[in-house]
Amino acid sequence: TSVFVSGATGYIAQQVIALLISKNYNVVGSVRSAAKGDNLKKLHGSKFQYEVVPVLEKQGAFDEALKNHPEVTVFLHTASPATFTAEDNEKEILIPAINGTKYVLESISKSAPQIKRVVYTSSLVAIATPEQINDPTFEASEDVFSPITYDDGKSNSLSAYFASKTLAEKAAWEFVKTTKPEFVLSTVNPVYVFGPQAKDEEAKGGLNLTAEIVNSVYKLKKDDEVPQLSGPFVDVRDIAKAHLVAFEKDEAKEQRILVYTEPFSSQVILNIIRKNFPELRNTLPVGNPENVDIALAKIDNEKSRKILGFEQIPLEDSIVDAIKQVIRANA
Ligand code: NDP
Repeated sequence: TSVFVSGATGYIAQQVIALLISKNYNVVGSVRSAAKGDNLKKLHGSKFQYEVVPVLEKQGAFDEALKNHPEVTVFLHTASPATFTAEDNEKEILIPAINGTKYVLESISKSAPQIKRVVYTSSLVAIATPEQINDPTFEASEDVFSPITYDDGKSNSLSAYFASKTLAEKAAWEFVKTTKPEFVLSTVNPVYVFGPQAKDEEAKGGLNLTAEIVNSVYKLKKDDEVPQLSGPFVDVRDIAKAHLVAFEKDEAKEQRILVYTEPFSSQVILNIIRKNFPELRNTLPVGNPENVDIALAKIDNEKSRKILGFEQIPLEDSIVDAIKQVIRANA
């Protein structure tokens, strides 16, 4: 089987690609430039091919790439701006995410009717607003959609990201409902994703938004304040597995798969690093190690856990693996 992965350079996408290849799938990835594609070919080998699709938010953007690969029967749409900073929220975040998703689904149903399964990488942010995520009275589940609007999204970049994922996922379900395409849609809705890069070469310098949350705790100096960030965590290798489940299993058809393991805070991450890397204790701050209370929405994802059916990687293992990799890659 041949699987198309949009946004192949991404943190999550590369773990998905590595897992697909290890399970003997062939992968076609879309990238924004040939240089990025050549680099991925070096990292992932001969079962990986790429197509250059420079702009997401253009009608028919994927037509050519799909026509070049009539062997593809599964499409994983992971490409989306994953950032909380932009100069122009509409142009850089909302439009590529929302219109990009609509157009890619249109391309698939027009140019690649042999594709039977499509997975959209959505997010917890399509379920809950920033305030709701840290509100213990809020119940997040596969049945809930965030009330955030396009106008909210225009107001600041954090809201833009939350609105972009919510409205892109809604647009995907709407597309399926109104056009009844040949393919079946599923979504994977990860919470905050941490854990190692698929390849050590990618663990140098600045990492993607969420992997950098862990990295930035590791980089704290003795007198630095410990950041106040907290939320729900899942390991990137479990998110990769979830993408495979989303197109392999019948129970995953037309489902939103909400993947969550346990809560995190910057202090808890720091405690884990201090415990497991004694050699770093002198250079890191201590913070307030006893302060491990985390205000978090109730996340009811029983339905998803049943579909997934695998044991998830705990926060401690995820942090240790990521930090070991960063140390190795920068040695
Ligand atoms: P990355 O930033 O590592 O990956 C984003 C990918 O999307 C890259 O391949 C990037 O290409 C591509 N991309 C971004 N903007 C555009 C654009 N305007 N046009 C074309 N391609 C674009 O982030 P992640 O791997 O973390 O995110 C992957 C997906 O997972 C996203 O859809 C994100 O919303 C979702 N997600 C992530 C979570 C997390 O905690 N990390 C949690 C929940 C959902 P390039 O390399 O060329 O910039």
